[in-house]
Amino acid sequence: MSTTAEKPDIAVSFEFFPPKSERMEENLWRSIERLAPLSPSFVSVTYGAGGSTRERTHHTVKRILEETALVPAAHLTCVDATREDVAEVAEAYWNTGVRHLVALRGDSQAGVGGAYVAHEGGYRNAVELVAGLKALRDFEISVSAYPEKHPESSDFATDIDLLKRKVDNGATRAITQFFFDNDVYERFVERVRRAGIYVPIVPGIVPIHDFTKVARFSKATGASIPDWLAKRFEGLEEDEQTRAHVAAAVCAEQVLDLKARGISDFHFYTMNRADLVYSICHILGLRAARSDTRSAAAA
Ligand code: FAD
Repeated sequence: MSTTAEKPDIAVSFEFFPPKSERMEENLWRSIERLAPLSPSFVSVTYGAGGSTRERTHHTVKRILEETALVPAAHLTCVDATREDVAEVAEAYWNTGVRHLVALRGDSQAGVGGAYVAHEGGYRNAVELVAGLKALRDFEISVSAYPEKHPESSDFATDIDLLKRKVDNGATRAITQFFFDNDVYERFVERVRRAGIYVPIVPGIVPIHDFTKVARFSKATGASIPDWLAKRFEGLEEDEQTRAHVAAAVCAEQVLDLKARGISDFHFYTMNRADLVYSICHILGLRAARSDTRSAAAA
């Protein structure tokens, strides 16, 4: 079925997590159906800690491939996996028709912030993982980047050196950890470019459905919460409706400012919820693709 939507000057991608229950699965598919007409460049599906969602991630990616026109990207980590395990998962994706992977080291089994211990027969980090995957098949590979440094990293130089090695090994896009201060992102991109890394550094945008949860997660991931942002949500703990309006305003401000700075690609951490992401994309200028069938019938 062809569409009549104009080609927008921005591109978006959406990240989902694999559902744990039937109810969550229904919710995920409602979100995918709502966001699909915005014609994202790709939709990615996360991989749970320690490969705990291996089957669920595969199932979700496969269903996206079979039941939609969307291009899926499967996240894959090194946690608790030998190189052979990783190869098996990657081959299964390739055979299903998946051509895009988001290659990550992953976090310690002890949770975010715990010391990472590589599996004896596995990859030590995403640098090695990217090389291993590229040697296996010619996947398109996206990797992570951290505008505020990875929490385990002693300095930016180490982080950026790792990013460079991931790109040298074949990654063609970096997606950032979420952030709320666009100056921080811009300074990071400048450092990255000075290091001779020229792949797109796509900002990861998190709509704040629940400020308390985002603040807690920010602490663990090293993403800072500016004072002005905390103030915006102050006193709204019991007021869901106002929180939703504030969240939409905050996110719209952030993406419009990034757009004004020349950013054209955005990756949304959807949390499997479509409402806020859909309105932010509308504000960015994206419109749902319309089917040609009506105009064809009228002709
Ligand atoms: P890498 O890029 O390999 O390294 C991260 C950091 O580890 C480095 O910056 C450095 O501090 C340290 N490090 C690694 N190797 C060395 C070395 N040789 N010497 C010194 N320091 C080193 N997690 C999941 O479990 N599932 C997901 O689906 C998932 N999706 C993500 C998507 C995005 C866009 C992002 C930004 C993160 C995602 N994560 C996911 C989280 C990610 O797994 C964690 O942040 C993890 O701690 C690091 O993985 P990485 O691929 O960034 O690691």
